[in-house]
Amino acid sequence: MIMEKKNKLRIVLAVCVVLLGVAILTESIFTYPYLPHTLGLTLIITGATAFLFSITMAVALDYVSGDYECRQCGHRFVPTLGAYIWAIHTPTTRRLKCPKCGKKTFCKRKLG
Ligand SMILES: [Zn+2]
Repeated sequence: MIMEKKNKLRIVLAVCVVLLGVAILTESIFTYPYLPHTLGLTLIITGATAFLFSITMAVALDYVSGDYECRQCGHRFVPTLGAYIWAIHTPTTRRLKCPKCGKKTFCKRKLG
């Protein structure tokens, strides 16, 4: 139960971090025309860096929150980072290959 709350908190934090990154990037893009060229460019580079950093942080937070359950055999597992990143996904499922039965299904994320 405590683990589930912790994982939910990580997901909420990941969403907040992404929103912050998008806000910083958007602000830098819309402010650019009103600033001298060099300062505007610096602002855009800073905004893009903040955005990339926020995406990286969000992926890291999402990756460590919970594991996945195979729809075929019910086995719970933590995918490799590569499999996690490249898998087709929805907010609650991810198409992964089960290490136990070898089937590729839309595995459901389990937070607790
Ligand atoms: Zn399986």
